[in-house]
Amino acid sequence: MIQFDNLETAFKYKSDGELKFAYWLFRMVGNPGIVKLGKSLTNLAVNLHLPISWMIKPTIYRHFCGGETIDECMKVSRNMEKYGVRCILDYSVEGGESPAAIKAALAETLRTIENARINRNIPFTVFKPTAFTLEHILENGTNGKLISAEELAEADLFRQRVETLCQAAFKADVPIMVDAEDVRFQPFIDEVVTRMMEKYNKEKAIVYNTLQMYRTDRLDFLKESYRKAVEGNYYLGIKFVRGAYMERERARALKYGYPSPINPDKATTDRMYNDGLRYTLDHLDRISVFSGTHNEESNQILADLMEKKGLAKNEPKIWISQLFGMSDHISFNLAAAGYNVAKYLPYGPVRHVLPYLIRRAEENTAVAGQSSRELEMARKEYLRRKS
Ligand SMILES: Cc1cc2nc3c(=O)[nH]c(=O)nc-3n(C[C@H](O)[C@H](O)[C@H](O)COP(=O)(O)OP(=O)(O)OC[C@H]3O[C@@H](n4cnc5c(N)ncnc54)[C@H](O)[C@@H]3O)c2cc1C
Repeated sequence: MIQFDNLETAFKYKSDGELKFAYWLFRMVGNPGIVKLGKSLTNLAVNLHLPISWMIKPTIYRHFCGGETIDECMKVSRNMEKYGVRCILDYSVEGGESPAAIKAALAETLRTIENARINRNIPFTVFKPTAFTLEHILENGTNGKLISAEELAEADLFRQRVETLCQAAFKADVPIMVDAEDVRFQPFIDEVVTRMMEKYNKEKAIVYNTLQMYRTDRLDFLKESYRKAVEGNYYLGIKFVRGAYMERERARALKYGYPSPINPDKATTDRMYNDGLRYTLDHLDRISVFSGTHNEESNQILADLMEKKGLAKNEPKIWISQLFGMSDHISFNLAAAGYNVAKYLPYGPVRHVLPYLIRRAEENTAVAGQSSRELEMARKEYLRRKS
């Protein structure tokens, strides 16, 4: 059994002040009223163009993000590396709403690829597809409704941008993961990413697609992706997550009167996630897996499966990940036990990272026990250090 409760190992990289701050922060986000109020005030401040960085940066931003630039992140990354935890720089700017924003996101993501090429403690790169085109292009691409010449040209530009990133990752020999987004965009993204895997995964998994296992159809999709990879003779890179947009997916399905794409309950999502891991480990000859979860049971199941199959803990085809600022007890204890662990380290200008921060605050409020678990661990470790 993995000892997730070794808090000394879990928080070694945090100073007393940082630990105390984590305790305070999770106390705040554990209160749904405070999170709701914080979200409204933040949105209001952004709409009124009020300066908010001074308040956000030293608080919630510092806990969940690596910094505003790659250089700032590298300090955090080097600190975690001392304890065997690698990191993945995640330029967390969302919504490619203007050509200038798209150009900037492309240049910055290329910089993360170059940075990963020269830093051995950065084993992967990542991007959010919505940063590289307009939402209606992804949606119409999904529904087969790209009709006007202008839309078709923009869809082609999106494909080219994704290709620019995948090609750079291939040349740098650094795997690149494509985040999963809303169901209404995902089929078009899947199509583009599959094309990239066919092209760049001939010798090993360089391009990874993300599967949200809260979706009813993703286990079948995984099996179909495997079938295609065998048929097309390429390798499959799969990042597993449970999925971040459950409430809005359900609300949308209800509003437009189609069946919810989300599993009926948490137990089904858990089962699908773990079955996905099982399937992948049975097909490791062709699939590389990246398991992104804060769920102790799923992490334990993965470790057990690896042991049962006689795999080394640092098997290169298996990586485990949590988000920076969350579940250090999982990341640092797994790394100490010898597993490949890399934390997602979001970064970017404070104002642009706000949607990500709001999601983290809401998630920690919504996920039963998550914030109280983090809170309790920070408290216990602080008291242990004091004594
Ligand atoms: C490294 C990393 C990368 C990530 N990348 C992405 C990404 O690309 N795209 C993305 O969407 N998310 C991404 N996420 C977020 C992820 O999808 C989850 O929201 C988050 O990790 C919480 O799930 P969990 O497995 O960690 O924890 P758990 O607490 O075990 O699970 C919570 C999750 O279970 C699911 N769930 C909860 N209640 C129910 C219910 N009633 N019915 C059905 N399902 C339910 C939801 O997905 C919820 O988020 C990423 C997370 C990590 C750690």
